[in-house]
Amino acid sequence: MSPAHPIPRILVAGGGVAALELLLALRANVGSPLAITLLSADAAFAPPAMTVAEPFERGGAQTHDWREITARLDVRLVLDRLVAVDTDAHRVFTHDGRRIPYDVLVIATGARRVEPLAGALTFGVDAAAGPALRALIDDARRSAARIAFALPWPSSWSLPLYELALLTAHELREHDSPALVRIVTPERRALELLGPAAGEAVMPILSAVGVELVAGVQPRAVVSGGLRLDDEATVEADHVVTIADVVARPVPGLPTDRAGFIPVDAYGLVTAEPDVYAVGEVTSFPLRQGGLAAQQADVVADAIIARYAGGEPPRPFAPVLRARLTTSGAPLYLQARPSGRSLASYRAMWSPPEKVAGRYLAPYLATARPELTLSATLAERVPAVAGEPGDEHAAVKLALTVAAAEARCHNRSRALQALDAALALEPDLDDPSYLALRGRLAEQVPAG
Ligand SMILES: Cc1cc2nc3c(=O)[nH]c(=O)nc-3n(C[C@H](O)[C@H](O)[C@H](O)COP(=O)(O)OP(=O)(O)OC[C@H]3O[C@@H](n4cnc5c(N)ncnc54)[C@H](O)[C@@H]3O)c2cc1C
Repeated sequence: MSPAHPIPRILVAGGGVAALELLLALRANVGSPLAITLLSADAAFAPPAMTVAEPFERGGAQTHDWREITARLDVRLVLDRLVAVDTDAHRVFTHDGRRIPYDVLVIATGARRVEPLAGALTFGVDAAAGPALRALIDDARRSAARIAFALPWPSSWSLPLYELALLTAHELREHDSPALVRIVTPERRALELLGPAAGEAVMPILSAVGVELVAGVQPRAVVSGGLRLDDEATVEADHVVTIADVVARPVPGLPTDRAGFIPVDAYGLVTAEPDVYAVGEVTSFPLRQGGLAAQQADVVADAIIARYAGGEPPRPFAPVLRARLTTSGAPLYLQARPSGRSLASYRAMWSPPEKVAGRYLAPYLATARPELTLSATLAERVPAVAGEPGDEHAAVKLALTVAAAEARCHNRSRALQALDAALALEPDLDDPSYLALRGRLAEQVPAG
């Protein structure tokens, strides 16, 4: 902390899930006076989780105005874009020419969403996908079209793809359409990263609306008549729908991994930078999901509070996956821990049962006109199992699971990126599965 600034200056760059959870978590701790600034490129907070329901008129995306949110939280708002960081001088540079000083900087600028398969209808890049899917379904009602919902990578957050396939198939069945709906995925079973319980629970839902699952195959390209796979086989399809790939948005002045993401340790601290943290999709953590971004933000908020207000030492990032699958009927709640326990239930396993399950964000978003209920936090409704919640290696385990899945699908550079993320989390990592996979990948010739 600079002596000229007795109140620590916390600068948060970003305007999404991770940034809002962080601000809420910092402000929930009333014991630490902090001068907080949010530097956001967007005036609106608009998480994409509910956009999958829009083409089906089952609810829509929530949008909140950052001006209102920050005014209530006593946070200074700068609507501008971060362009670079000077860590020696402790300041950032913005697109409009500002120089903003900080004592602690938190990067939460997310990732870029791009089309993974040229020729496919991609969900999650821009707003055009909703109307395009609507038109596709309207056409398919009268035809025997074959629609493939393709997951680009085993580490992609697959939930929205399953939701799109389920809701599409349900609507087509309701109109007695002969169209065929398939999910084509590199996962070995449905919703693999959410554990076996998710797979078992979702299979009957898929079959009830006639969705066929083609699992364990890596889509590579959309070709005439279908989807070409890694082994050169083709899955026949007249239309291919996919979800956006996530690529890095590097920040000049900060370190990056081989793919341009920012490496962080288990407390969210950027490698070799004592006063810079990063949270959410901008980081090297290889599974990118809103609930995880929020959990990373909570860890960093605790670390900042411990730094300035003392108290409890911060706990490391120990991810728990929570997902609310939108179906044509009741939503299905899924939860998985990297230690292996997975659960599926039609009864909500957390409260309030929001889709993006952040400790402070979920209660905040659950109210139509969010009041500042910072004392209300996400409540777990599943009893804890001794030993599991304290699993300090959960983040590393999940990163290694992702690495193994990418390696299995011959995605060498993605597998190496996930291994690097595990190493950043735990620099003295000597887990045998890590060493074995690293050794195996080192022997392979880079695919270019
Ligand atoms: C279709 C879809 C459905 C999804 N469904 C779910 C779901 O059901 N549950 C779930 O948990 N997750 C879901 N996700 C994933 C989730 O939305 C993301 O993981 C989450 O939004 C990541 O949060 P983030 O804060 O890291 O990034 P983002 O939410 O992308 O926020 C990044 C923010 O930073 C701002 N920004 C970017 N660059 C700069 C800059 N240079 N300077 C200042 N600001 C900048 C951007 O404007 C943006 O507001 C879904 C994603 C998609 C695409």
